Amino acid sequence: MNRRSLLSSLALMWLAILLMLAWLLKQSYDAAIERSLDHAEDLVQALQTQVSAAMRRAQSDLRQISQSVPSSALNQRAVASSRKPVEALLRGYLKEFPELGSYNIWDANGVLLYSTSTPVGSQVAPSIASRAAFQQLRDDPSLQYAHTEAIRGAVSGRLTNSLFMALRDAQGRLLAVFSAAIWLDRLADELDKLQLPERSEIFLRNSVDHRLIFRKPLIEAELNRPVNNPIQRRIDAGESRGRDRFQASSDVEWRIYAFRRLESHPFYIALGLAEEDALSEWRRNALIVAVGAGLTTLALAFTLWQSLRAGRERERVREEALQAHRLLQEAIDSISAGMVIYDAQDRFVTCNRAHRRLFSSMESSLVPGTTFEEIIREGLRLGLFPQAEGRQEEWLAVRLQEHRLCDGLSHEVEIADGRWLQVSEHRTPLGYIVGSRIDITERKLLETELRGLASTDALTGLANRRQFMQRLEDELERVRRQTTREACVLMLDLDHFKRVNDQYGHAAGDSLLRYFANLLRHELRITDTAGRVGGEEFALILPGSSTDAAYAVAQRICDKLASQPLVLGKQSVSATVSIGLAAIGREDLSADAVLSRADRALYQAKEAGRNRVQLASGPA
Ligand code: GH3
Ligand code: MG
Ligand code: MG
Repeated sequence: MNRRSLLSSLALMWLAILLMLAWLLKQSYDAAIERSLDHAEDLVQALQTQVSAAMRRAQSDLRQISQSVPSSALNQRAVASSRKPVEALLRGYLKEFPELGSYNIWDANGVLLYSTSTPVGSQVAPSIASRAAFQQLRDDPSLQYAHTEAIRGAVSGRLTNSLFMALRDAQGRLLAVFSAAIWLDRLADELDKLQLPERSEIFLRNSVDHRLIFRKPLIEAELNRPVNNPIQRRIDAGESRGRDRFQASSDVEWRIYAFRRLESHPFYIALGLAEEDALSEWRRNALIVAVGAGLTTLALAFTLWQSLRAGRERERVREEALQAHRLLQEAIDSISAGMVIYDAQDRFVTCNRAHRRLFSSMESSLVPGTTFEEIIREGLRLGLFPQAEGRQEEWLAVRLQEHRLCDGLSHEVEIADGRWLQVSEHRTPLGYIVGSRIDITERKLLETELRGLASTDALTGLANRRQFMQRLEDELERVRRQTTREACVLMLDLDHFKRVNDQYGHAAGDSLLRYFANLLRHELRITDTAGRVGGEEFALILPGSSTDAAYAVAQRICDKLASQPLVLGKQSVSATVSIGLAAIGREDLSADAVLSRADRALYQAKEAGRNRVQLASGPA
């Protein structure tokens, strides 16, 4: 996997983690809302139980009271005599239930007959004739109970909701109204014990007209006002309980609500918990997660960015290195000598074009990583090094040593196509080996030519004096080493040569010299050496020849020259030669000594009349 795709899969992975975190947050959000709603529902249920209980209690008390109070006591006239026992009865019921504030009995016109709490200082008897609840009971004979709106009690000063119960005669005519005042303040006290969050709201509404009966926090102005919100619509639709979430119109706070309708009374209770409160813990956690994820994302993004930048930087450096490498390659390619570079472990790194040309037959070995030894062995296998013929391992050992020494000294190596290379190796400060391979074939050829020129007589092509003397030294050495070896030296001097020059000219003299040289060549064996050792003086070495054999050769030369004159155009130039012959002996101290003896014999031959062979006496 390359770097770029690794980074992008990392980024994708992180994206997946972020999505997962978001999903988890959403889940925990839903759970927090759910928990709050559960809580709200529990509370609403508890409240419903409490309010229902109070209402049920009021209802059953009113029923019992209506049965206990005689109908004769239910008119204004009977009040004076019946007040005491009736009001005592009422108080008896009241005692046991703190939510119930008062019990009252009203006559058929809605005027107060009896009450548990006597109004103070009022001249006019209190009346409920104007109350809607009373009018409903009065006007609808089938109706037994009716609830009032929320009322600030005229008697108690408390916020109350009263339950009215009608007592009728057999014809359905209203005889009296019994009422129980439920103190909503009491409910407020109970709610305080629950320690709900500050922004919570609880309301109790009439399920028929949605008038507000009670609310906490209490907003007096809203009491008995209807409302239009989702809960109201759902109650109207017949739902008896449920959950909802909306923005309260009173304080524009978003809340989650649980609501529940009272079972046997036309009320419903709703509790709203401010989302701010319900989600405060979730929000704190979400903030921590968001900040953590944000910081991690930033860190990751920074790391990715750094990494990408580093990648680009590496790319740039690589490009530069490649450029430098190309430049180096071009530079070394422009050098006419072969160049090759090996690393510190002696492995091939690169070479230039000239080197490849020199070793084109082993191109496949010139690849990075191949060791010098492997390359040379391949060369040996291909027969590339004639010098190694028959002694490959020995030659290889020497070549390896030269290579590793890296002393910068030149070695001459012959390669199969007849070329010669001057090979040298240098070690760089980094430990690399830089080798140069210079084609010195031309120089080699020139050298050979020069060597030939230096040892040859230009006029006749025979060995010159220096070369001849060298050969004579060598032969003397051989004779000394090999006891049975014989060899002879002949000194030859053309007779009266001056006259030839004088008579025919110098050029003719030269021609005669060349003619005689060819004659010698013709007479000699391949192992023999003929040299021109003076102007018209020649000398011969006849290795392996006895004195007699040499004498015969000398005589034959004499005879041949004498009998075969040189023909120059129309002219015929006759010549003779005198020869001194000396055997090379082990006792001879030097080549000069041998030659002197022959020379002396030659002199004797001249003395004796020329055109003859004279044998020298043995070495002194
Ligand atoms: P002798 O029989 O006693 O040897 O008589 P000679 O004339 O050969 O006497 P000498 O050896 O004194 O003379 C040699 C002559 O050879 C002298 C010189 O002019 C001539 N000579 C030497 N070198 C050359 C050469 O390269 N070319 C020609 N044409 N003549 C040469
Ligand atoms: Mg001479
Ligand atoms: Mg002569």
